[in-house]
Amino acid sequence: MLVTGGNRGIGLAIARAFAEGGDAVAVTHRSGEPPEGLFGVRCDITDPEQVEAAYKEVEEKQGPVEVLVANAGITRDQLLLRMSEEDFSAVLDTNLTGTYRVVKRAARGMLRARKGRIVLISSVVGLMGQAGQANYAASKAGLVGFARSLSRELGSRNITCNVVSPGFVDTDMTRALSDEQRADFVKQVPLGRYAQPEEVASSVRFLASDEAAYITGAVIPVDGGLGMGH
Ligand code: NDP
Repeated sequence: MLVTGGNRGIGLAIARAFAEGGDAVAVTHRSGEPPEGLFGVRCDITDPEQVEAAYKEVEEKQGPVEVLVANAGITRDQLLLRMSEEDFSAVLDTNLTGTYRVVKRAARGMLRARKGRIVLISSVVGLMGQAGQANYAASKAGLVGFARSLSRELGSRNITCNVVSPGFVDTDMTRALSDEQRADFVKQVPLGRYAQPEEVASSVRFLASDEAAYITGAVIPVDGGLGMGH
């Protein structure tokens, strides 16, 4: 199985959860070193050539990817009138087009094998919206339409495609917020706290398991009740 952006945060927790379950795990890391004890390949998902090279490396070592978790993502928050075209397109290019790149490459092997599991990491913000995150929310909402289209295209080949939609998770991404913003966000969460990355990982593992064989095109919230059906 392969996790993009598996060197830290939610991606690392997902990779570790699968490794603990006995799976052969590969992670992509854009910068730095691969995480200790995990097989890592360097890859910036905005570069199609790096995506192709990363898959070749993973396939040589572990065979075709049977489970893909498209997790890598960025934010560039700004209110609309201050949001540059660069801020908008960088977020779309990483979160949405980057996911298209890695999913398309994985689907090749899955179609041949006539089985596969694809899990995309979206966000509660994709369907609720969030002031200052029009680019991010658009990219994350786009993942839902993308996943649902793929579940229709690939379902007859025993490939499922689902979305996990986390709320506020305690990672570098949310640590970048001010204390005031963090406290404000927590007030909106019925469970009254941030999620730990491992709590997202357990839903991803479920979607990749035999128990979830009949689930596709679903959006699974892991948000402490924040989205309430969004
Ligand atoms: P982090 O910022 O902690 O980690 C982001 C990961 O994505 C890093 O591994 C980073 O690599 C990688 N990445 C970013 N851009 C690229 C790129 N161009 N190519 C390859 N890898 C890239 O984020 P989180 O762990 O918090 O978030 C993981 C996912 O979960 C994201 O998609 C995010 O949108 C989503 N999410 C997060 C929530 C939260 O509250 N934290 C809530 C809802 C969704 P590098 O280390 O090289 O920068």
